[in-house]
Amino acid sequence: MDKKAFATKKQIQEIVEKYPTPFYLYDEKGIRENAAKVKQAFAWNPGFREYFAVKATPNPFLIRILREYGCGADCSSLTELMLCRALGMGGEEIMFSSNDTPAGEYALAGQLGGIINLDDITHIDFVENILGKLPETMSCRFNPGGVFTLSNGIMDNPGDAKYGMTEAQIFEAFRILKKKGVKRFGIHAFLASNTVTNDYYPQLAKQLFELAVRLQKETGAKVAFVNLSGGVGIPYRPEQEPNDILAIGEGVHRVYDEVLTAAGMGDVAIYTEMGRFMMGPYGALVTKAIHEKHTYKEYIGVDACAVNLMRPAMYGAYHHITVLGKEDRPCDHVYDVTGSLCENNDKFAIDRALPQIEKGDYLFIHDTGAHGYSMGYNYNGKLRSAELLLREDGSVQRIRRAETPKDYFATFDCFDFYGKLNGEG
Ligand SMILES: *Cc1c(COP(=O)(O)O)cnc(C)c1O
Repeated sequence: MDKKAFATKKQIQEIVEKYPTPFYLYDEKGIRENAAKVKQAFAWNPGFREYFAVKATPNPFLIRILREYGCGADCSSLTELMLCRALGMGGEEIMFSSNDTPAGEYALAGQLGGIINLDDITHIDFVENILGKLPETMSCRFNPGGVFTLSNGIMDNPGDAKYGMTEAQIFEAFRILKKKGVKRFGIHAFLASNTVTNDYYPQLAKQLFELAVRLQKETGAKVAFVNLSGGVGIPYRPEQEPNDILAIGEGVHRVYDEVLTAAGMGDVAIYTEMGRFMMGPYGALVTKAIHEKHTYKEYIGVDACAVNLMRPAMYGAYHHITVLGKEDRPCDHVYDVTGSLCENNDKFAIDRALPQIEKGDYLFIHDTGAHGYSMGYNYNGKLRSAELLLREDGSVQRIRRAETPKDYFATFDCFDFYGKLNGEG
């Protein structure tokens, strides 16, 4: 598939008059169309809810848009919970799927009335001690172990993953929770990441539905929902075929009828916790070429670096790059596109065929709307960028300002370090 940028060079030239590069740009139209499609894909299930994985893109403006489509929030930390509280979210709009969880985070999740998804059987006592009494609705995270394989060869290794309970533990956990007064139960599993295939959710669903039937039968615990979690992928590479969420919804529907409806459990709600699929394609990191360097390789230096987008440096992840205004030029130059960190892995692309790039060109780094900005950090004293929303009407709204040196120095205690730096102290 041809990957098209959702903004033109002209639009970017207008934006930079007010907001300098680098910045994240999000596409409201794309976010809305996709969210509506997700809702439609699971409309057959009356209890369906997508809990947006906040860690993917923790921006209240974007979460508020998703909420218009019925989305809740999947939180995994204190500040993510606080962000959702600030948006007025609470009760079963919040899923708390964390692991290695500090006490204070369970306390806030409980206070907000969110659904607590336990990563481990030992957390039953831990949560009970913190909350005094367990909520009436609880969820448990399942890890089947071994290797998870899909027909197209996608594999992941649940057996090596730190998450979730073994099958024996989840049966035991349900029995204990039931004894302690829990009335509604959920199960959750996340077995493969960034799956670009329509088969992942249906295959996972079948496994979880069969488990749900056995759990309910053998423990008497009422299974109210099955949470398919995240893992639905996006085509980072242009040659990949995008997932069809309507086909995925239908695939889950089919196994739902085969397994759950057939077992008399046709009232189970389906939950999802997609992050990447909800937001990934609808965000871009926009950066400017500021240097070119010709040594043993050809380098283009840009004004963003790995602190703005860590995925290439951390996982060797591919992010497609469009040189704005040069969409139709031949890709007859091979570049490493680098940031300025004192780290040789600070490269957004290695040996990438691109049109000839000149200083001042704007590079649109695709598919960074999820796990992009949010993975940012401050190495080399670099600062996080702004986040901008390209509205449906073409206007641009700043939804997070860029960090300033003052933000960076703000955590030094004892004296006004920033004032001293500026000769003010
Ligand atoms: C990260 C995460 C998600 C979202 O994953 P995506 O790959 O972005 O869909 C959902 N649930 C849990 C528990 C996670 O850790």
